[in-house]
Amino acid sequence: MQTEGFTSGFHSHFEALKKERHITNFYAPPEARTGERIRLPEDESHHLARVLRLGEGDVVRVVDGCGMLYVGRVAAIGRDAVVVIEDAIADAGEPAYSLTIAMGLLKSRNRFEVFLEKAVELGVECVVPILTAHSEESRINRRRVDSIVLAATKQCGRSRLMKVEEPRSFESVVSTQGDVFVCHEAVSPTDTLLRRLLDRKPTECVVVVGPEGGFSENEVLQCGQSGAEVVSLGVRRLRAETAAIAVASLASAVLGP
Ligand code: SAH
Repeated sequence: MQTEGFTSGFHSHFEALKKERHITNFYAPPEARTGERIRLPEDESHHLARVLRLGEGDVVRVVDGCGMLYVGRVAAIGRDAVVVIEDAIADAGEPAYSLTIAMGLLKSRNRFEVFLEKAVELGVECVVPILTAHSEESRINRRRVDSIVLAATKQCGRSRLMKVEEPRSFESVVSTQGDVFVCHEAVSPTDTLLRRLLDRKPTECVVVVGPEGGFSENEVLQCGQSGAEVVSLGVRRLRAETAAIAVASLASAVLGP
C-alpha cells in the first residue's frame, strides 16, 4: 500500500469524523508501521483490547504523530495489537498555518499544563517555554508534557504531535525572523493581535505571552529593538494561560481551519 501522494486530509478527514464522531484515535509512531501493518505499542494495545474491548475485524483509527492518520482493521490482539491499514489520510486534523506560542514559564504547573492541552486542541504547532525577568520557574517536566500532548492529540483528532521545546531565553524568541507578536496588557487596546492577523494573514508566526507577573519594562523595550510587535488582546487583563488560549483560538479563527 502506498501512503505518499495522499492529498491534504481536510475533506476526507471530515468525512471520517462525521462517521466516527465518538472515536478516540490510537497512537503508534512511524517506525511501528511495516507496509500495510501497524504494530500498536503495548499500552495502546492494552487500551484497545482490555479497556475498549475491541477485537479482530474492528475498525480503528491510528495516528503516527507525524501527520498521518490510518484507518484500518484489527488483525490481532495481545501484547502488541496489529492493525492492517485500509486507508491513509495525510495531515488529518492539522491547520494550514503554523503558530508558535512562546509562553513565559508559569509558577503554577497546573495552569501551564491546562494551556498545553488547549494548545494542542486549538492547532498550535509549537510551544516554546521562555525564561523571562518575572518567571519563577525554569524547567518543564518532560514526561508529563509528552503525556499531556499525546492524550490531547488522540482525543481531538490531530495527526501531528505539538512540539514543546526546552525552555529558552526571551531574547532568543523576540529576535526570531518573521512575524513575532508580543502580547502586553499595557498597550492601547485598539492595537490588537486580531487586527494584525486579519491585515497580514501570516502563514507562520510566533506569539509571545508573559508569565503571571507579566513582562518587565526592559523586555517591552527589547521588543522594539528586535522588530517584534507589541500587541493587545483587549481591555481586560487576562491570566497568562487565558491569554495564550485566546491567542491560539484567534489564530485558528482567522487563519484556520
Ligand atoms: N503584569 C500583569 C499581568 C500579567 S498577565 C500583572 O501582574 O499585573 C500575563 C500575560 O498575559 C501578560 O504578560 C501578557 O502577555 C498577557 N496578557 C494578559 N492580558 C492581556 C491583554 N489585555 N492584552 C495583551 N496581553 C495580555
